[in-house]
Amino acid sequence: MNSSTGTLYIVSAPSGAGKTSLVKALVDAQPQIRVSVSHTTRAMRPGEVDGVNYHFVERSEFVRMIEHGDFLEQAEVFGNLYGTSQSKLQQTLDEGHDLILEIDWQGAEQVRRQMPEARSIFILPPTQSALRQRLTNRGQDSDEIIEGRMREARSEMSHYVEYDYLVINDDFAHALDDLKAIFRANQLAQKPQQQRHRELLASLLS
Ligand code: 5GP
Repeated sequence: MNSSTGTLYIVSAPSGAGKTSLVKALVDAQPQIRVSVSHTTRAMRPGEVDGVNYHFVERSEFVRMIEHGDFLEQAEVFGNLYGTSQSKLQQTLDEGHDLILEIDWQGAEQVRRQMPEARSIFILPPTQSALRQRLTNRGQDSDEIIEGRMREARSEMSHYVEYDYLVINDDFAHALDDLKAIFRANQLAQKPQQQRHRELLASLLS
């Protein structure tokens, strides 16, 4: 068994900031980093796969899970329920994997209260118009929904002050480098390094 403990990361962003693509590219490059699969009551979008993008569940099932205490955090976003199930979370960290929660600011607040050692990252778009463009490019929603999402985005972005790190997604490759740097720096922090190099440290001091 790996003696080191992984770091829990919270990654938040307004819808359209490119969070999911950045996290996917990060994990493709560093497969030892894991991403938690949330539960949600929202409808599946084209191309999404149950159990991969989300665990898609009925509202009644989600409420049953809340009552059962299954969630580390849960929140309502755009009228749908989202939550992070506790199962597997601690096990993944104990196995030494860094674990990413892609969650909104409300969930981030709940996780920080319970796991203050979690590191949090907020991804921002370079401009409001770039964000609007990205939301429009999805082509799945009406103008009214896009304007609603812009309002929600401004409200979500107002919470950036609660996060440890800010990444501006102007250039994708640059933003990905920034994300990698955050993970690398944390992997080199004293505590994980001490756990990883226990024998070396002991021998250096003997
Ligand atoms: P989408 O439906 O576009 O995938 O996600 C909408 C919002 O829900 C995003 O801000 C996303 O970060 C958030 N979200 C996704 N999963 C969770 C979760 O498990 N908990 C919380 N609190 N928010 C989530």
